[in-house]
Amino acid sequence: MSETWDAIVVGGSAAGLSAALLLGRALRRVLVVDAGEPRNRIAPHMHGVLGWEGEAPADLLRRGRADVSHYAVTVCDGRATAVEADDDTVTVTLDDGSTVVGRALVAATGLTDQMPDIPGFAQRWGSSILHCPYCHGWEVRGQRLGVLGLSPMAGLQTQLIRQWSDDLTLFTNDIVAVDDDLRRRLSSRGVKIVDAPVLELLGEGTTLTGVRTEAGVVELDAVFAGAPIKPNDDFLAPLNLDRADNPMGSFITVDEFGRTSHPLVYAVGNVINPALTVPMAIGSAAMTGGMVNMDLIGREFDAASA
Ligand SMILES: Cc1cc2nc3c(=O)[nH]c(=O)nc-3n(C[C@H](O)[C@H](O)[C@H](O)COP(=O)(O)OP(=O)(O)OC[C@H]3O[C@@H](n4cnc5c(N)ncnc54)[C@H](O)[C@@H]3O)c2cc1C
Repeated sequence: MSETWDAIVVGGSAAGLSAALLLGRALRRVLVVDAGEPRNRIAPHMHGVLGWEGEAPADLLRRGRADVSHYAVTVCDGRATAVEADDDTVTVTLDDGSTVVGRALVAATGLTDQMPDIPGFAQRWGSSILHCPYCHGWEVRGQRLGVLGLSPMAGLQTQLIRQWSDDLTLFTNDIVAVDDDLRRRLSSRGVKIVDAPVLELLGEGTTLTGVRTEAGVVELDAVFAGAPIKPNDDFLAPLNLDRADNPMGSFITVDEFGRTSHPLVYAVGNVINPALTVPMAIGSAAMTGGMVNMDLIGREFDAASA
């Protein structure tokens, strides 16, 4: 652990292991530091993941760790808490107080879905309260569905979910402003609107049977909800990387290859883009892994020819 790694990858899930795989196959010595809490850990099955359709998320990561173990990639459990960088190296502080040094850093730390303070929400997250129709829409197609307004984007989300069921209710929850245009648009395709604060989600265990609002109970089978999200990037704060705001929050900005505003630091997966599903995170991180290697090659030729 005291060596200078070619690259340190912080976060060892879909994105991080994919970047590490490319780097390992490029004869790079890579350290992956992973806190072991992938975003989809609560979901029993993954969907929309070619070759792994319906498989458990944990099985993909087990296989990913086995894949990278064939190369000079070391995976360790731990959490990065801070980073500092000079012109040549990045030093990462871990939660046990130790530090590790690399010539490049790939942040692949994902994001945190923040559970709203609505009784019955958190226990159903990933089971009957769903965040993404591409991941879970097929399984609830044609059922009695709801969209729980947790952000102004719920109006758009409702139009999306209508693709999977014609029995759909939008709960505005005092958060979504439904103007006349949106009301007409939703009503034109049979979407019901409940304009009232949501008080409770009802049902046994992880099953949903209904939503209680101040206007009464609506019986339902599943609800889609975009929980507020926070990228797991606090440890990068000392680098003061460029960021940009979008409707889902504030995210570190990267170029098309995952380069941040610091020349030794890259970021991949949900930590920079909450919309990336597992295969998207794997694909874009593979691109970044290749680019980290290319940039290291450039530095090595610069040094040799100087
Ligand atoms: C309930 C649910 C179900 C989903 N179902 C699907 C599905 O069916 N199909 C699909 O394609 N997508 C699904 N997704 C989306 C999927 O979870 C993400 O696309 C994917 O996890 C993104 O991968 P990632 O590597 O960017 O982040 P993550 O998988 O979240 O991994 C980030 C890793 O970094 C670690 N980490 C965080 N901070 C630190 C730190 N400071 N130091 C060290 N390690 C750290 C975390 O512990 C974690 O292991 C689902 C999401 C949710 C919430």
